[in-house]
Amino acid sequence: MAQVIADKRDVDFVLHEQLHVDALSQHPEFAEFNRKVVDMIVTEARGLAVKEMLPTLRPGDEEGCVFDQGAVHTPASFKRAWRLLQDGEWLAPARDPRWGGQGMPETVAMATREYLSGGNMALFLCAALTHGAAHLIEIFGSESQKQTYLEKMYQGRWSGTMLLTEPDAGSDLGALTTSAVKNDDGSYSISGNKIFISSGEQDLTENIIHPVLARIDGAPAGSRGVSLFLVPKYHVNPDGSLGERNDVFCTGIEHKMGINGSPTCSMALGGKGRCIGTLLGQENRGLAAMFVMMNEERLMCGWQSLANASSAYLHALDYARTRVQSALPGGDGKPVAIINHADVRRMLLNMKTYVDGMRSLLYFIAYCEDRKRISTGDEEHYQHLIDILIPVAKGYVSDRAVDVCNTGVQVFGGYGYTREYPMEQLLRDVRICGIYEGTNGIQALDLMTRKITLDDGALFAELSEEIRKTIAMARETSRSAFLAERLDACLNDLADSVSQIRERLTRPDERLRVMVAASPFLEATGDLVMGWMLLWRATLAERALATGARKKDAAFYTGQILAAEHFTETAMAMITTRLQVIRESRGIALDIPEDAFGGK
Ligand SMILES: Cc1cc2nc3c(=O)[nH]c(=O)nc-3n(C[C@H](O)[C@H](O)[C@H](O)COP(=O)(O)OP(=O)(O)OC[C@H]3O[C@@H](n4cnc5c(N)ncnc54)[C@H](O)[C@@H]3O)c2cc1C
Repeated sequence: MAQVIADKRDVDFVLHEQLHVDALSQHPEFAEFNRKVVDMIVTEARGLAVKEMLPTLRPGDEEGCVFDQGAVHTPASFKRAWRLLQDGEWLAPARDPRWGGQGMPETVAMATREYLSGGNMALFLCAALTHGAAHLIEIFGSESQKQTYLEKMYQGRWSGTMLLTEPDAGSDLGALTTSAVKNDDGSYSISGNKIFISSGEQDLTENIIHPVLARIDGAPAGSRGVSLFLVPKYHVNPDGSLGERNDVFCTGIEHKMGINGSPTCSMALGGKGRCIGTLLGQENRGLAAMFVMMNEERLMCGWQSLANASSAYLHALDYARTRVQSALPGGDGKPVAIINHADVRRMLLNMKTYVDGMRSLLYFIAYCEDRKRISTGDEEHYQHLIDILIPVAKGYVSDRAVDVCNTGVQVFGGYGYTREYPMEQLLRDVRICGIYEGTNGIQALDLMTRKITLDDGALFAELSEEIRKTIAMARETSRSAFLAERLDACLNDLADSVSQIRERLTRPDERLRVMVAASPFLEATGDLVMGWMLLWRATLAERALATGARKKDAAFYTGQILAAEHFTETAMAMITTRLQVIRESRGIALDIPEDAFGGK
């Protein structure tokens, strides 16, 4: 039977041949995660995703969530799937076993997330947010907050959310108006309204713990006056049992184009004047703390995107192998499976290159987390790589995932547009990844105005150094050496553009003009990072073929080399031109008078 979430051979390749994840088990931290254990974990996750989560994907979309007098009912099939996620301890696989985690490497956890999110993105979103909220408590919480919440959240008995967005504070969180007043006992009374809160209310867990951004009365305006609070749906008694209902209620849910199994809630805090929360971290340092969770969820957008794109590719591939339509030009006149048609092959190879590259990138970032954890001395280097790659993993990857799912619809022809096949849902669902956790426009600005300028350009320099290691490795091969030269030339071009952008950003009259090109710059950087990942893969494949691969493996490795060659002569070939356009851009979008846009 055809695979439908992620190609097992490719997941194995990234884990074992590209990142050598079992070598991590030489460190005491990960001693028990040898290859056998890693394979067992991934097989378990795959089984759960395919057998239990995938069957809830379509019913979850059709049934959606129902709001009823403050309560929210999730799709019926989600209850069992959530319980299985809990039973299998899939919410916090990489966290400390002391708090209910499994202590596995992030790289392995990434493979489990790809499968589980691919099984049902809307349901697994609740698990991912629960992990993020609990991790926030683990990092910034007091001992008492950790004891009260952590284990139950990592176990999935209680869930977690993030309450940031307000009607007038979306991209600009510093504009939020939710307020907090300190009580005599050290707690805070919170009041305000939040919107678009994923799983703000649901019927899967006994309690819901809300990290909430609010401003303490008298705090400075803007982002410097924002604090972070923990607001549980039910207060927790000293013995850990559930106490009184807190004054935080869902007032309605959104009707959306996708992830319909995930309730997107409007939340009223303190409507009756009795919403009590505790400070998480320090006063007025809330936004910085919240960024830890936001960065985690930005990566989540990356792996959600990967999972949907990968599913779309595998479905399209399977369909193209079986759908017979039209004869080949110059052939025997008999209709053939559409995989034989040039344009369909182009579409499939485009999809494959992006999916492969995205998988390598997302797993590599997780691998950097692991290296950070076990390293002595080069933690900062790995953190720098993670920091500069996050806008690419979130912004670029989610945009490409939409393209991949869209191409998947096209491969199916008219059937892709119907609800008979999963393609249209994959496309609708994945579209959110470019919007939440900071829109892709904000990711592009983050890359251009912060990440490439931080530490006097150290992050970009370290990324370049990492890419050059792959280029050097590829130069040792016969076939990929040519690709290495192309990537090297693009990297030099990108470095020139980075210098020019940094210089323009220092000039007040130019700063806004160069920002017009932020998204194209993210695209060019993302294409280069994809090219890097694909070259890395091709080099390993070429080496494996040279040492005599088995027949089935030979086809896999040939696919790696051809994918890298295809990407080099399509997307990568455009990088130089794109960068030139960015360098020469005058930012005309700033000059057009508002009236000249028309429409009035
Ligand atoms: C399904 C769903 C689930 C969500 N879940 C959560 C959640 O759990 N918790 C939560 O707090 N929020 C959540 N959100 C909210 C989400 O994070 C916001 O919608 C997002 O951050 C954008 O904010 P906004 O909608 O107010 O758009 P706006 O901020 O109004 O942005 C509109 C457009 O303007 C652009 N823009 C804005 N500012 C700038 C700028 N400075 N420079 C350039 N361009 C700019 C944006 O890129 C965008 O294209 C969710 C949203 C959805 C749809």
